Amino acid sequence: MADACDLLVVGGGINGCGIARDAAGRGLDVALVEKGDLAGATSSASSKLIHGGLRYLEQGHFRLVREALAERARLMACAPHLVRPLRLVLPIVPGLRPAPLLRFGLFLYDRMAAGDLPGAAALDLARAAEGRALLPELKRGLVFSDAATDDARLTVLVARDAAERGARILPRTELLEARREGALWTARLRGAGGGEQSLTARVLVNAAGPWVGEVGRRTAAAPRGRVRLVKGSHIVLPRLYAGPHAYLLQERDGRVLFVLPFEEAFTLVGTTEVALAGSPEEAAISPEETDYLLAGLARLLRAAPTREDIVWSFAGVRPLYDDGSANVTAMNRDYVFDIDAPEGLAPLLTVYGGKLTTFRRLAEAALGRLASHLPMGPDWTARATLPGGDIPQADFPAFVREMAARYPFLPEAECRRLSRSYGTRMTRFLGPARAAADLGRRLVAGLGEAELEHLVREEWAMTTDDVLWRRTKLGLVAGAAERAAVAEALERLRVPPTKED
Ligand SMILES: Cc1cc2nc3c(=O)[nH]c(=O)nc-3n(C[C@H](O)[C@H](O)[C@H](O)COP(=O)(O)OP(=O)(O)OC[C@H]3O[C@@H](n4cnc5c(N)ncnc54)[C@H](O)[C@@H]3O)c2cc1C
Repeated sequence: MADACDLLVVGGGINGCGIARDAAGRGLDVALVEKGDLAGATSSASSKLIHGGLRYLEQGHFRLVREALAERARLMACAPHLVRPLRLVLPIVPGLRPAPLLRFGLFLYDRMAAGDLPGAAALDLARAAEGRALLPELKRGLVFSDAATDDARLTVLVARDAAERGARILPRTELLEARREGALWTARLRGAGGGEQSLTARVLVNAAGPWVGEVGRRTAAAPRGRVRLVKGSHIVLPRLYAGPHAYLLQERDGRVLFVLPFEEAFTLVGTTEVALAGSPEEAAISPEETDYLLAGLARLLRAAPTREDIVWSFAGVRPLYDDGSANVTAMNRDYVFDIDAPEGLAPLLTVYGGKLTTFRRLAEAALGRLASHLPMGPDWTARATLPGGDIPQADFPAFVREMAARYPFLPEAECRRLSRSYGTRMTRFLGPARAAADLGRRLVAGLGEAELEHLVREEWAMTTDDVLWRRTKLGLVAGAAERAAVAEALERLRVPPTKED
């Protein structure tokens, strides 16, 4: 690795990767360091929605909602394989928000959107198929549009794009310390093998999410803002209902629960909001959070699942900008920047907050703040596709049909998974394959050696968890023998072992 760059980004979550991509596309020499796996923290533990956030409208965060809805439209066009429309059913619950208020909220939501998706409509739950999973006393509802994604894959594809534009992406590399020496930062880094190296940079970006304060302290230029760390957990259950729609369930405490179709055979339910006690590394779902989520389902669904049904759970930590709100639910989800640029000294940009949905705009705004410190090219990301997103007319269903015709030996569900995950890039590892055997040994249902090699070569996958939980979600179906097969295949691809394995 060369020992100098223009911009050093700390944090390989969606925000750090977004900033690295945008900066590289403007011609800057960029390095990004991530102490674990890309998207190893908050950016793989979200509700995976690309949405304006109906709830933020209720809280009066209009700027955030408008911007997020505009980003929703952009992302569906730039990554049609990875960001897909979703219809959400919102039952009207007697005693909770009245129907006229919900109708008005959705009217505003649609008006603020770019007309990219079908608008909201009333739903007779007593007759509609979407009502079958709900308690019979829920007779009326509304249905509206948003979009869903795979957060970890989105992050990795953004990193991939950054790399293809010249950024050095360095996972498993921790920033230990950064010191200002006049107009340059000198950063001390610890790499995957434990060795240390140093790198100089003209500008440092702290995009360390929940660790923003800690990284700030390591720069000896402690950031002036503060974050509130708010844990949010999800549970995954075998599919609770038929149909491609989601539910937005109102809770008695004023919050809402998302019940989302997940990986064909599962349902994802979340989330909670609990002030984090302890370090972000240790965040895990508590028994109380599990009970809260199950109770929320039991209040409104006919067939209420139990603890024994839970197949997976995960917890993430929201790094929210501390705006002084007493109530964590009401805290602003918008992003805030702090620029520390004393005369003659190298600048530090610190990122607080931000949604998965608004990463592109956050990155553009961050680079805008740095433009007076580094000569750089103009904004460019608004219409640029993400890797695999160059699908003609962004017509994803037509693309899946084309792939099914080209690779008829792929089972339907597998062809859909590969199309969603990789878009047009799936042809890179499927190539001229004419039979399943051409894709190497099967390691896990649907995952062959050719795909694994692609994940290692192009997506920085190093451990079985990288492969089974972040690059794919095949961890949901992989047994011990299959995990071992992936570990062994990674070994053969000579990936240096890390602690996780
Ligand atoms: C429960 C929950 C649900 C959510 N749902 C949604 C949703 O549906 N839609 C939406 O738009 N948003 C959602 N969000 C918000 C979104 O997930 C986050 O805003 C976003 O992922 C934050 O990304 P980030 O890059 O800032 O942080 P992170 O993803 O946490 O990345 C920061 C990275 O910095 C690295 N790092 C830390 N210290 C160092 C160091 N010293 N050296 C090198 N690397 C370091 C960490 O390892 C980490 O990977 C949700 C968040 C949560 C918690």
